[in-house]
Amino acid sequence: MAIIDLVFPKHCPVCLRALPPGKTLICPPCEKKIRRVRDPFCLKCGRPMDSEQREFYRQCERNMPAFIQNIAWAEYSSFYIRRMLYEVKYEGNCQLLDYPCLDFSKTLRPYLLRWKPEVLIPVPVHQNRLRERGYNQALEIAERLSESLHIPVDSDSLIRSSETAAQKNLGKSGRALNLLSAFSWKSPKKYHSVLLLDDIYTTGATLNACTGVCRRAGIEKVYAACLSIGRV
Ligand SMILES: [Zn+2]
Ligand SMILES: [Zn+2]
Repeated sequence: MAIIDLVFPKHCPVCLRALPPGKTLICPPCEKKIRRVRDPFCLKCGRPMDSEQREFYRQCERNMPAFIQNIAWAEYSSFYIRRMLYEVKYEGNCQLLDYPCLDFSKTLRPYLLRWKPEVLIPVPVHQNRLRERGYNQALEIAERLSESLHIPVDSDSLIRSSETAAQKNLGKSGRALNLLSAFSWKSPKKYHSVLLLDDIYTTGATLNACTGVCRRAGIEKVYAACLSIGRV
């Protein structure tokens, strides 16, 4: 038993209680409380759907996101998932991501065999936000997935060059444009296939903007994975 486990016990991502020292990352009963995204889900955005009869959500059919496919791990509507992500984002409790990322890597593995991304790219946050919080939750996810999937992380090439605080006051197309100009590719690196990572998939606008930037940087295949996603 490592001393560090006694001094800084790990906490369960679902009930937030301290776990017994050792390799356990979640309480067994809590593991069953997670609402993982299961079939059927939209083959574009990864949102869970009620019927297996459709391939895509209506919204995706009307306005296809630019990335090839997004896979999500759990439903954001679950109180436990929302609380966990809040803890990570605002309390810096990043260790809570250990179990979700390990479990998510198992879901992702068969997809990644086909997608063959060369790197994992976390959706960047602006420098100012990074200074305030000290970390980027998408990077925390990327680093954990990288460890279990053995795919390197590139967190320097895609950057957030401007803050997008005034989104509310813009129309739909204005918002998309504003977001698109918020990201840029600052690297001579060339990739063929990449996997973008984020904590929450809401409208898909951020991932879409990042995909646009990656495509313009010459990356042919852009996939995405998000730890949580909402139903429409
Ligand atoms: Zn628990
Ligand atoms: Zn969809």
